[in-house]
Amino acid sequence: MIHTDASRDAADAQLARFVAHAGADYARDRNTDSGQGNHKNVSTLSPWLRHRCLLEDDVLTAVLAEHTPASATAFVQEVFWRGYFRGHLEHRPSLWTRYCTERDAAWVHAQSDTPLQRRLDTARRGETGIACFDHWAHELTATGYLHNHARMWFASIWIFTLELPWTLGADFFLTHLLDGDPASNTCSWRWVAGLHTTGKVYAARSDNIATFTNGRFPRTPGLASDASPLEESPLPPVVAPAIEADATLASPCRLGVLIVESDCQAESLTLPSTPCSVLTLTNPCQRAVEALSESAADFTRMALIDASERAATAFGVHTNSDANSHWEAAIREWIATEQLDVVAVARPPVGWVHDRLQPVLAAIEDAGTCVTRISRPHDRVVWPHSAKGFFKLKKQIPSILAKLNLPAG
Ligand SMILES: Cc1cc2nc3c(=O)[nH]c(=O)nc-3n(C[C@H](O)[C@H](O)[C@H](O)COP(=O)(O)OP(=O)(O)OC[C@H]3O[C@@H](n4cnc5c(N)ncnc54)[C@H](O)[C@@H]3O)c2cc1C
Repeated sequence: MIHTDASRDAADAQLARFVAHAGADYARDRNTDSGQGNHKNVSTLSPWLRHRCLLEDDVLTAVLAEHTPASATAFVQEVFWRGYFRGHLEHRPSLWTRYCTERDAAWVHAQSDTPLQRRLDTARRGETGIACFDHWAHELTATGYLHNHARMWFASIWIFTLELPWTLGADFFLTHLLDGDPASNTCSWRWVAGLHTTGKVYAARSDNIATFTNGRFPRTPGLASDASPLEESPLPPVVAPAIEADATLASPCRLGVLIVESDCQAESLTLPSTPCSVLTLTNPCQRAVEALSESAADFTRMALIDASERAATAFGVHTNSDANSHWEAAIREWIATEQLDVVAVARPPVGWVHDRLQPVLAAIEDAGTCVTRISRPHDRVVWPHSAKGFFKLKKQIPSILAKLNLPAG
């Protein structure tokens, strides 16, 4: 069953339940999609990881306390796929803007192409007649979660068998996934489509689906037999992500901490001084063309409220929450009321939070308030290895674990 309680307590409880299975069990069983309500062979931690209620390092610490790095290799590598995709997008912010532009164009085009619109609706409602695909469309909309293998098959069938625009498939995922993430989602859809590793697609095969669904879908006829990679124009050159050094403050000042949906663990940020106030923006961002599903919006809101309460306790301050959509007005009013000199915020990653927050932070800086964007140690260490393929990063996992003071084997 997928957990809809976004609190840190619920995340810790699920981590504690799963940790014993993160070694040999995970390595053996992780590729099997056991079906809705039965995903016990994988951690189902992704909604908390995506909002950083749990940090990657929290999960790695718990797992490596019970398993050697060798016995937990498969699980540790999967966690690093997340950091890899985040770092990959930070090196290529144009992938995100290109995705948004192409998605919007595909959406507009579909409005005037009735047969295409009908095919899209049929796919999204899970009425294509392809049993496994229809099942996953229903599972996604009902639970906000799909097993990784199901996401791969679904995306492959969407692109190559149903011949629908990949950006609208990625958008459908972002509307419903509790763990909807700009980096993991965009890069994974691109990977299936043959745009991530140039020329290499992921083709869904009937026998593979039958095997890894424990025979629930014994035959899937009609899958595209010739999955040719999609093509695109060359991307701009890779840029190394700008990561600010840890902030230091020359003189005592009033520091406020801003909490947004991409990082719900303010209490563990490396802050330049003790904060006197916290503001949490609980209005979820628009991340897809259509409104976010109710369950995904609720999860995000609950994660933020829980983060706000934890920060209040940790810093011994009163917290302010703002549920309105006008972030700039809320932040300006907070700065004025609390007479803040500095605003600290976990560095917003490339994606919808950055798109919404960055202009607001720039305006606030222009108005004279200092803003410090705090990077997580995990990102600082992982991102430099994410410019190229995952296999380059994979080789560095022992040295990355050592740098993060985690058991490296
Ligand atoms: C088309 C497609 C779209 C995807 N969209 C998203 C998304 O929007 N958000 C998201 O978090 N993941 C996405 N993934 C990656 C992956 O499917 C999920 O992270 C995973 O299924 C989450 O389930 P879990 O927590 O039980 O994973 P576990 O198998 O228990 O793995 C532990 C953690 O490692 C990370 N992880 C595992 N596999 C991957 C992977 N392949 N790529 C990146 N991180 C991984 C996740 O944070 C996960 O919680 C997508 C994959 C595909 C193929």
